[in-house]
Amino acid sequence: MKRISILGSTGSIGTQTLEVVEQNKDLEVTALAAGSNIALLEAQIRKFRPSLAAVWSEEKAKELKARVADVPVKIVSGMDGLLQVATEPLSHILVTAVVGMIGIRPTIAAIEAGKDIALANKETLVTAGHLIIPLVEEMGVRLLPVDSEHSAIFQCLNGEKNNKISKILLTASGGPFRGRTREQMKDIQVEDALKHPNWAMGQKITIDSSTMVNKGLEVMEARWLFGVGMDQVQVVVQPQSVIHSMVEFEDGAVMAQLGTPDMKLPIQYALCYPERRPLPGDRLDFWKLKDIRFEEPDFENFRGLALAYQAGRTGGSLPTVFNAANERAVSMFLNRKIGYLTIVDIIEGAMERHKVIPHPSVEQILEAERETYDYIESRW
Ligand code: NDP
Ligand code: MG
Repeated sequence: MKRISILGSTGSIGTQTLEVVEQNKDLEVTALAAGSNIALLEAQIRKFRPSLAAVWSEEKAKELKARVADVPVKIVSGMDGLLQVATEPLSHILVTAVVGMIGIRPTIAAIEAGKDIALANKETLVTAGHLIIPLVEEMGVRLLPVDSEHSAIFQCLNGEKNNKISKILLTASGGPFRGRTREQMKDIQVEDALKHPNWAMGQKITIDSSTMVNKGLEVMEARWLFGVGMDQVQVVVQPQSVIHSMVEFEDGAVMAQLGTPDMKLPIQYALCYPERRPLPGDRLDFWKLKDIRFEEPDFENFRGLALAYQAGRTGGSLPTVFNAANERAVSMFLNRKIGYLTIVDIIEGAMERHKVIPHPSVEQILEAERETYDYIESRW
């Protein structure tokens, strides 16, 4: 029996993880954590019977405790609650499906406790990759990618342990505004940006996909997961999202992983690795697949991607500033406080004024995050 804990069980990745658990009789849930959706968390507790559950706010935790008084489950709250879920003694693997760099401390604590990590929460690796990768090696745990592109790359690397990667070809759909100029994007509303052409995901990542900031975060995520330089990761726009990513080796051979867009595949692959299990769902039909097109990314109109390369190349605390500024700006856009193009202006402004710390500790990362939020508050 493999025992699983999930940070962010009520979200898009969290709920799909639970669907995978349901389909595999040798997977079991020991601990769940959510932000505020206690109605769904209660239903999950009743169905999956974890021994521990965390809710971010103390008040909501109290409410949940009363609602599940008839079930043998311990309810905790706050950062301490997330840390308890991450390190739950009986669990083997932690699925990090919270959104944002709030995942840093629990992810590190889980690795220190010897847990394998199924990583969806890319913001954590982008901001703290220089601390997490050496820790993963030191602890001898597995860091298994859930992000579809990174799972594709991971699958392309099967059996290639001693072969050098010359290039990672990270595919991107280009999002709903592919082909538009900045001028044509200035009036975009929240509803427009929440319509992704190929994937149904949480709100923050959907906005990030539309600005291409998501792809920028993924370039940095790939750099840490696969030990390559920023400039070895090339973004290839492939609007149909059929090719999930590719790896080019030194002899020029290119390996690719293809499939229909279904996050349950990378989730199940991470949870059952190295085994492949049956997975119901649509299959690629090459007779119906009329064309697969490729384009270069548009760095000029999608400046968030260019800024991500700049942040990743500089390294240190700059990826934290890039990420924190984006997290705050996206939340302001979702709350209709700023216009669409201002998201990237905020990221650029925050990066310009930041004095880079070369190898930041967790405290320095969290301090850079706070400084970025203070700057945005004072300026926007
Ligand atoms: P969602 O917004 O759908 O879900 C986020 C989850 O995190 C929810 O369960 C939410 O709880 C929980 N959460 C938020 N804040 C806190 C907090 N302070 N404490 C505890 N739990 C919290 O996001 P997604 O599932 O889309 O994305 C999760 C991560 O996975 C992101 O990093 C994203 O980039 C990555 N990812 C997602 C993909 C997708 O297809 N969705 C694909 C690839 C990567 P509640 O709902 O109760 O507030
Ligand atoms: Mg992805």
